[in-house]
Amino acid sequence: MKEDCIFCKIVRGQIPCGKLYEDQTTLAFLDVNPWSRGHCLVIPKAHYSCLDECPDEIIAAVSKKISLIAASVLKVVQAQAYNVLNNNGRAAGQLVNHLHFHIIPRSADDGIISHAPQGKYNPGELDDLAKRIIQEL
Ligand code: AMP
Ligand code: ZN
Repeated sequence: MKEDCIFCKIVRGQIPCGKLYEDQTTLAFLDVNPWSRGHCLVIPKAHYSCLDECPDEIIAAVSKKISLIAASVLKVVQAQAYNVLNNNGRAAGQLVNHLHFHIIPRSADDGIISHAPQGKYNPGELDDLAKRIIQEL
């Protein structure tokens, strides 16, 4: 637990939340500033700032609940689809430094932008990049 972390405070019950699900490892609650109705967050109860810091077994336990929670959310808000979003690091848009997965209900033409302009690789560049990344694994 981290004293100044807003999600740790939610876990401890020091800040109210629209709780959807809780077990030993995982908590899910509605996002207060939703992109769409039913937008919610699934988090580990223990504090890890991002994916890279979180042990595999905790990631596995938390991730396992995403589709379960999403199914109920979609049914209630009558959405047809959803995005799962996980921002890691400030440059990627992470504002709260407690690992969390967004579930964002989607409907056709809802105006939420989920695609960025896509680029292309020069000949050989893709294979070279893949090789270099594999060497780092
Ligand atoms: P991110 O940009 O991935 O760090 O997203 C953080 C999310 O947390 C945002 O969508 C916020 O609206 C949401 N959020 C911040 N504070 C609270 C809170 N007290 N209860 C519920 N959601 C929150
Ligand atoms: Zn925290």
